[in-house]
Amino acid sequence: MTLATASRKLKRAARIILVGAPGVGKGTQSERLMKRFPQLCTIATGDLLRENVKNKTPLGQHAETYMHSGGLVPDPVILNLILNELSSRKWLETYDSTENIIAALGRGNGSASSVARASNSPDTSFILDGFPRTATQAQALSYLLPINLVLQLVSPVEVILSRLANRWIHLSSGRVYNVGFNDPKVAGIDDLTGEKLVQREDDSEATWRKRLAKFDETSRDLLEFYRARDKNMVVTVQGNSSDEISPQIFAEVEKRFGM
Ligand code: AMP
Repeated sequence: MTLATASRKLKRAARIILVGAPGVGKGTQSERLMKRFPQLCTIATGDLLRENVKNKTPLGQHAETYMHSGGLVPDPVILNLILNELSSRKWLETYDSTENIIAALGRGNGSASSVARASNSPDTSFILDGFPRTATQAQALSYLLPINLVLQLVSPVEVILSRLANRWIHLSSGRVYNVGFNDPKVAGIDDLTGEKLVQREDDSEATWRKRLAKFDETSRDLLEFYRARDKNMVVTVQGNSSDEISPQIFAEVEKRFGM
C-alpha cells in the first residue's frame, strides 16, 4: 500500500456535509472518503427513502408520491428519518419522544442541549449526502447535533452536463453508473441485480440546466446558513474531475480531524 492510499484514523468525531449539484460526484467522493478514513460512514437520505419505499413502510408510502413527482419530501418526514437513523446507531441520545422532537424542530425552538446529545467519539463520524438540502433543514439539524465541516464540491456546468448525459441508473436501488469511468460490468445491466439500467426520461439538457440552476439557488441559502455560524466551516473544492477533487478533500479532513 502506498502512502497516498493508506487509510487514516480520526481523533475526533467528523460530522461532514457534502453539498454539490447532481452529477458533481458526491457519491464517488463519499466512497473515497470512507476508504481513506474507515471510521467515516455515509448517510444518504435518498438511499434511506428508497429503502423505505421498497419495504413499503408507512414513511416510504408517504414519501413515495413526492419522490416520484421530483419534489422534496416534507421536512418532518426527512427529520424523522435522520433522527431514527442517528439514534438507532446510538450516536445520538434523545430526551423526548420522536413526535415531540419533530414538532419542536418544526417550530424552530429546539436546542441541542434540550433535545439531544451527540457522541464525540471518532467512531461516530459520518458524511451526510442529500441532507440538509435547505437552510430550514440545516437549522433543524443544528438542534440535534453540530456539523463541523461543510464540503462544497464545484465543477463547471458543461463538465457536469456531459457527465449526466453518460449516466445510467438502476431505478429501484438508485445505483448510478457513468459510461467511461464507472461502467457496469455488462453494458445496460445492473451489477448486483442483473436488472436493466435506464436513463431518466427527463434527462434532457434543458431540464438539467433548470435543475442545476434550482440547486444553485437552494444551496446558496444553505451555505450561507453555515458560513454565518462559522466562516471556517464551509470549504469550497473545485475540479473538473473526481480525481482533481479527492486529494483536496482528503487534505482538509486530515488537517481538521486527523491524528
Ligand atoms: P437523492 O438520491 O438525494 O437524489 O434523493 C432522491 C429523492 O429523495 C429526492 O428527489 C427527494 O424527493 C427525496 N429527498 C432526499 N433527500 C431529501 C431531503 N433532504 N429533503 C427532501 N427530500 C429529499
